Formats: sequence, structure tokens, C-alpha cells
Amino acid sequence: FWVSGKMYGVIKCRAAVAWEPSKPLVMEEIEVAPPQAHEIRIKIVATGVCHTDLYHLFEGKHKDGFPCVLGHEGAGIVESVGSEVTKFNPGDKVIPLFISQCGQCRFCKSPKTNLCEKGWASDRYDVMSESDTRFTCKGKKVLQFMGTSTFSEYTVVNEIAVAKIHPSAPLDKVCLLGCGVATGYGAALNTAKVEPGSTCAVFGLGAVGLAAVMGCKNAGAKRIIAIDINPTKYEKAKVFGATEFVNPKDHNKPISQVLYEMTNGGVDFSLECVGSVAVMRSALESCVKGWGVSVLVGWTDMDDFAARPIQLIAGRTWKGSLFGGFKSKDGVPKLVNEYLEKKVKLDEFVTHNMTLAQVNDAIQLMKTGDCIRSVLSVALQ
Ligand code: NAD
Ligand code: ZN
Repeated sequence: FWVSGKMYGVIKCRAAVAWEPSKPLVMEEIEVAPPQAHEIRIKIVATGVCHTDLYHLFEGKHKDGFPCVLGHEGAGIVESVGSEVTKFNPGDKVIPLFISQCGQCRFCKSPKTNLCEKGWASDRYDVMSESDTRFTCKGKKVLQFMGTSTFSEYTVVNEIAVAKIHPSAPLDKVCLLGCGVATGYGAALNTAKVEPGSTCAVFGLGAVGLAAVMGCKNAGAKRIIAIDINPTKYEKAKVFGATEFVNPKDHNKPISQVLYEMTNGGVDFSLECVGSVAVMRSALESCVKGWGVSVLVGWTDMDDFAARPIQLIAGRTWKGSLFGGFKSKDGVPKLVNEYLEKKVKLDEFVTHNMTLAQVNDAIQLMKTGDCIRSVLSVALQ
């Protein structure tokens, strides 16, 4: 029902439901509850498919994390707001955020981190969702993956995890700032703090790695060595500023050795954008002793990693980056403006445009390495 221009009540809409790990997603009609206090119901217009969706479905496979609606790289329009929401109105363009920014907790108050104590990303890495959800399907509770669930025509998100963006932003492009591009770009700028004139290595040239290449370039790096086992990615990496390309499969010695020789002792900064503990070690060992910094961006929480302590004793720094180190609500609207001002590229990441109903094809394209980003149109604008 409608009250003063706002629609309340349950919405029935289409969503791609992940009923269980490793199975294709199923297009279903789901029920989306009205937003409660401090919540916002969003019509999702476009969503990217990120490797973290595949990680949960095929790699993490935590049974308590299903059934769920995947997708966390979306953009849309506010449909209705719950009580006490004062800063959003129906019709606002928004990006749902997979890490919140409540502004109140000790982490939000510290300039040193973008973690927020509220929301799933504080401590629920196994299941990658809150236990609470606004979705049901066929009488069953369906979890909201990463608090966002953008593979649905409608979703409900707490206002601490929604960014209001410029009204002229094209949603089918800026959705990529909801995860992949912000993550890689910020990992280079905010976490690695790449310096002008430096030599960088980026491992993995999906959207996250390519965005890291773009971050290195915008930070003024002189050499950007792009590393991937799939050589079809090199052309794109050039577009974002990579200066050299290395395929680990072309060498019969460790990739860290190859980079050591190419750079007279190792790179200043390396970024791991694959999600493999073996590659994480290679990325660390590719850094120069004394001051090399290696950043973990790839997502995995299944295996321990290993390295020789002397690597760190000799002066290397090993650190990780969540969402590129951006405080989410503050950072995303700024990134959208930087895109509109042409300081940040987005269009070049999009290799496929499809519909939500084709989500399994998009997942397949990422599995086989035949895309950078597929953007799915979800609800009509
Ligand atoms: P993607 O699948 O599009 O790209 C991964 C790339 O790595 C591919 O091009 C693949 O060929 C390459 N690769 C695989 N094995 C390799 C190896 N041994 N050496 C070099 N390259 C190799 O994935 P994406 O969407 O760009 O995501 C990349 C990673 O970032 C994933 O692990 C994802 O879960 C993670 N991620 C992390 C965050 C975060 O906040 N830290 C956010 C988003 C995504
Ligand atoms: Zn992601």
C-alpha cells in the first residue's frame, strides 16, 4: 500500500537464488519485506559479477551461507525508506555497500581503517552474510550475500551500507565501484600507497587487478608489470597503464626470480589480485628487500599461507586490503564523481552486457577467463 508517495508492503520480484553450493543459480520469484527502521529498499538496475560471488559458490561453499542471493557489485534507485531514514528519498541513485560505515564504532572513528563493526564483514567471513534477511522464497529464509544481494530486482540494505551518488551517474557503469574497481584502485593508492617513479607488479588481471594497474598508473608508477597466466588479458592491462607483461607459464623458474632479474632486485610494490596463497607468497617474494610492500587483495579464507620469516625481517611489509581501504559511504560517491570527471575509467572494464536471467552464463565466462566484467541489467529503470 502507498502512504504519501511511498510504497509499503512486501514486493514480489525476480532474483537468482543460490540454493546450494556449486549449483547453477535459479531464477525464482522471491518476497522482499518492506524496509524497517534505518533501512532502504532499493531497485537494483545493474550489477557486475565479481570473483567473490564465485568464491562463495564454488570455493568457500560454507553450507550455512546458503540459500542466498549472490551479487554485491550493484547500483540502483531507492524504492522506499523505513522509519528514521532522513538522508535518502525514493528516486535517489545509490550503490549498496558490502562493508558498512556506521560512523560511530571505534573502527569508523579511526582514520587507519575502513572496517566497521556493524555488518557481516566484521566477523562473519564463513557465511558471508548476516543471519537476518528481508528475503523469503517458497517459504524459506534466503540470506543476503555480503549484506547486499544485487542479483535481485529489489533488495533491502541498512542505511549505513548505502552510498547516495550523483544523479547523472550511469548505473550500468558505476555499479563496478560497488566492489571490483574500488577494491583494486584503492589497494594501490590507499593500502600500498604506490609512489611516483616506483616499479609495481600486479598479479591477476581481472577487474580487481586491472583497477590496481590503474591505481599504480594514477599514483605515478614508472613501471607496471602485469602478471597473468591468461595472456588474453594483456591488451586490456595496456589500456590501464601496464608497461610490461609476464606469463608465469612461459618460465621454468619461480616468477619472483623472473621479476628479481627484470628489476635489479625486486619491485617496490606488489599486489596479489588472484586469491591464491601460492601467488600471495610469490608476490611477497617479488618485492625488493629493504622497503618492498606486498598487498593481499585476492579473497580467500580457506588455506593458511607460508613464507620465510627472513623475507619480512629483511624489511618487506606484507599487508591486506579490504574494499581498497576506502571508507565505504565516504569513498564511493567520490569515486563516482571521479568517473564523471574522467579521472577513473570504468567503461573499459565492461566486456559483456547481459540480463540477470543470463547470470549463469556470466559466471561461466568468469570461470573460463573469457571476460573482465559482465554487467547484468536487473530491473528496468
Ligand atoms: P577474476 O577471476 O576476473 O580475475 C582473476 C585473474 O587472476 C584472472 O585473469 C586469472 O587468469 C588470474 N590468475 C589465476 N591464477 C593466476 C596465477 N597463478 N598467476 C597470475 N594470475 C592468475 O577475478 P576478480 O573479480 O578480478 O577478483 C580477483 C580477486 O579479488 C578474487 O580473489 C576476488 O575474490 C578478490 N576480491 C577481493 C576484494 C577485497 O575487498 N579484498 C574485493 C573484491 C574481490
Ligand atoms: Zn567483489
